[in-house]
Amino acid sequence: MSEPLTVNGNRLVRRIEELGQIGRDENGTLTRLAASDADKQGRDALVSWMKSIELDIRIDRVGNLFGIWQQGDVSLSPVMAGSHIDTVINAGIYDGCYGVLSGLEVIETLRESGFAPARPIAVAAFTGEEGVRFAPDMIGSLAYVGGSSCEQALATVGTDGKTLGDELMRIGYAGDMAPGTLRPHCYVELHIEQGPVLEHEGFQIGAVESIQGISWQRVVIEGQANHAGTTPMKLRRDAGLAAARIVTYLRDYVGRSNSPTVATVGTMRFEPNAINVIPSRAMLTVDLRDPDEIRLQTGENALCDFLSKLEKEEGTPISLERLARFEPVNFDDRIVALVEQVAREMGLKSRRIASGAGHDAQMIARIAPAAMIFVPSINGISHSPDEFTPPDDLVTGANVLLRVVSNLVKAEFN
Ligand SMILES: [Zn+2]
Repeated sequence: MSEPLTVNGNRLVRRIEELGQIGRDENGTLTRLAASDADKQGRDALVSWMKSIELDIRIDRVGNLFGIWQQGDVSLSPVMAGSHIDTVINAGIYDGCYGVLSGLEVIETLRESGFAPARPIAVAAFTGEEGVRFAPDMIGSLAYVGGSSCEQALATVGTDGKTLGDELMRIGYAGDMAPGTLRPHCYVELHIEQGPVLEHEGFQIGAVESIQGISWQRVVIEGQANHAGTTPMKLRRDAGLAAARIVTYLRDYVGRSNSPTVATVGTMRFEPNAINVIPSRAMLTVDLRDPDEIRLQTGENALCDFLSKLEKEEGTPISLERLARFEPVNFDDRIVALVEQVAREMGLKSRRIASGAGHDAQMIARIAPAAMIFVPSINGISHSPDEFTPPDDLVTGANVLLRVVSNLVKAEFN
């Protein structure tokens, strides 16, 4: 019996570390913002690795970068693996880069092994996933799936006043292909979890079945400012007290619901904000997330009902304003099941998981069957230089991707 095919783990880890050295300042801080000089250097390194295995390089107008292994029936759409290589400010080396370099590694391994795919396989690096310099995040994959126009994306003004279009032109990564021209047969994104669940529960692989929906709301409570010493408790209209009741309500609601809902009051402000004055006004934000749209709506409605009750009980008029709302994204169940099956065959502990963070895969899911694979992040730390996944876990994840991609080449999606 021949040994099952495995990626070259040393080559993968070496490239992750090498790419992780590009964009460091004199203090060693890593920052590779979209369409910056550092991004150009990172892209150059990626392109040189793609060229070393003779991939067909394609760049679209918003700078999304593809390396295609033109094998099998080249008239067919490619199986695509990818992520992004831009980073946040003071970043770690794994977020995004791991998925791109693993896609490359999978192609290189298959190519070396003499594997004959029935259709092309592509690796993708999408522009500006982090959204730090050019908002919104996932700007490249959003334009790729037609969620924004190419012109709109290119006209986006960055934090430094420059446009994405001009900056892509300047660094030499403004391609001429219309975004979305290269449509994937299906898409898989391998990524570090960026949360503590897999590590905490002792799983090696997360078969990501969804990306949770997000609801951001602002609550403003009107009370009556009055003397803290002379106003009896019964006669108060205390906006601060009402605000505090919202915080505990949310924790109790989530605790009762026995669901993966998470609720956070991340900001709160009182007026006049004085030690001896009853707050006349309180402003707070509610961040509510759930992988299920109905449950997310139920959570929003429950909060709304509670606020009407609170308004009467405390005598404090309350207004609610929606700041942002994203529906959850469900990934393709056939690919999620394939990830689980591959993990099982490899003797790995895996579980289905919802992503708490946004990823390019949620955009690609609009146009093609898509899913993600997670590997553990130590202590769940991400967007930080302390972000870490042990090399063995990185290689394990890439081997899962290898088998998933090999299977997807044969898969039919209708
Ligand atoms: Zn990422």
